[in-house]
Formats: sequence, C-alpha cells, structure tokens
Amino acid sequence: MSAPRPTLRFAPSPNGRLHLGHAYSALLNAEIARRMDGRLLLRIEDIDPVRSRPDLVAAIFEDLAWLGLRFPTPARRQSEHLGAHRASLHGLAARGLAYPCFCSRGTIAAAASVTPVPRDPDGSPLYPGTCRALAAESVARIAAGEPHTWRLDMARALAAEPGPHGYLAFAPDGTEHAVAAAPGRWGDAVIGRRDVPTSYHLAVVHDDAAEGVTHVVRGRDLEAATDLHVLLQRHLGLPTPRYHHHDLIRDAAGAKLAKSRGSRSLADLRAAGVTAEAVRASLGFG
Ligand code: GLU
Repeated sequence: MSAPRPTLRFAPSPNGRLHLGHAYSALLNAEIARRMDGRLLLRIEDIDPVRSRPDLVAAIFEDLAWLGLRFPTPARRQSEHLGAHRASLHGLAARGLAYPCFCSRGTIAAAASVTPVPRDPDGSPLYPGTCRALAAESVARIAAGEPHTWRLDMARALAAEPGPHGYLAFAPDGTEHAVAAAPGRWGDAVIGRRDVPTSYHLAVVHDDAAEGVTHVVRGRDLEAATDLHVLLQRHLGLPTPRYHHHDLIRDAAGAKLAKSRGSRSLADLRAAGVTAEAVRASLGFG
C-alpha cells in the first residue's frame, strides 16, 4: 500500500481574533504542506461552548483568506463531533481507564495552596485522586445530576500500556528524530469537561485521526501535551502522527502573544494599513 498523502492541519480556537502567532503557525503549516506536496486542512476547535463565538469563526476564515491561505471546505468543526468524542470517552471509562470527578477546580487549587503539591507541565496542581475510588457512589451522583468532569486514571493507563512511549518529531527540512514521551507527568488529566464530553486532549487526538492527519505542526506551548496525546492514541487505537513544535512568536518584551495580553490582532494590523505581504514577510514567509 502506498503511503498516505501528507496531511496537515491548522486548528485555531475561535475564542479571540487571530494574532501574529496564529499567522506564523498557519503559514508554516502551509509552507511545510507545500514542500511535502501534502494537503492542509483547517479545523475549528470550538468545543468550549462559552468562549467559542460564531463571529470569531467567521473572523478566522476572513483573516486566513486575507493572509492568502486557502483550505478545503467545509472546515471541520469539533463541536459537530461531540457524539464521537463521547463514544471515545465512554470506551475509556468502560475499560476502567477514566473516572468521573466531582471536585471543582477551586477545591483542587485551594488544597494546593495549603501545601506545595506536584504540578503538571502547564503548572496546574496534579489531581490528588480524591474521586478515583468512588465507583458505585459516583453512579448515583451522576444520576442525581451532579456536575462532573472525567479524568484519565493515569496509573491504570500506564499499567495497561507501560511504554516506552514516544513519537517522531520532524523538522521543516524533513529530517526526523525520536522523542521520548513521559505521559505520567500529566497525572489524572481531564479528558471530559463538565459542559462537553471531551477536553482539548481527547478531541485533538480523536480529530487528528479522523481527518487522517499525518503531520502536526503547532506551537512549542503544546509540546509537553504531546506526551499525553501519545498515550491516549495508544489506548484509543489511533495512529500517532509526526510532530513539529515550532517556536512561539513573541512580543517586543519577549512574552508569548495572546489576546488577553492585548497583542494586536491581524484585524488590528489590517485596519492600521499593514498589508498581508508585510505580515508574511515579517514572519519570514516573504
Ligand atoms: N486549538 C489549539 C489552539 O488554538 C491548537 C491545538 C493544536 O494545534 O493541537 O491553541
């Protein structure tokens, strides 16, 4: 069988306007897809029902078209696939690899503020496992409508798939190297949110596989999460794509760009008369 056509994706979340960091990621994806004679898909990561807004989805299409990027239509929207995400989540739970958790983020943070606790790579306290052994009781609490998340039982997941875990990282020039993964540092990560039956981690591995993504190009801020993604792929029987985690575009003060820190959006730049060509050139895609 011939190798599948290289398939890449740019996967923004519609919870703010795109900024230069997104532009860099999208343009790099396009550049690598072109070099590989692959295809580049657009995926809207809109599982967050509160922060995702339809006007921001429209703005993503507009900003990417302005940058000169074209994608096959329609773009996949994660929110249209929550049923499939739920099925994956239930599959893990049925095998004893996920459990419902009734703790609020506030309770966990409060406990962590009293005594120092180990933290995950994003700096959040590792979940102490309070709800891990609730079993029968949790059935009644769910039936009574109590809000809950779903967590991966990391110890069981690692016992069932001890590894060693890893993946292939690739550079834009096509060279590859093996990277060792340590999923355990994420602890009992949330794989199903209170409001939707998935989390970023579960949805991203599910959808990358569903779309036949072979090469993931995304920012270095998600590099550590790949360790967890590799373990989820193993348990869900999904292939592991190759990964390239690119450097993040920083502002003049060296901070990561983010709407919350007032970084100028592509729309702001456009309104100020900056051309798409100038943006591309400033990011090294002249
Ligand atoms: N939706 C994520 C973001 O906007 C990117 C996810 C990914 O590329 O894996 O940060």
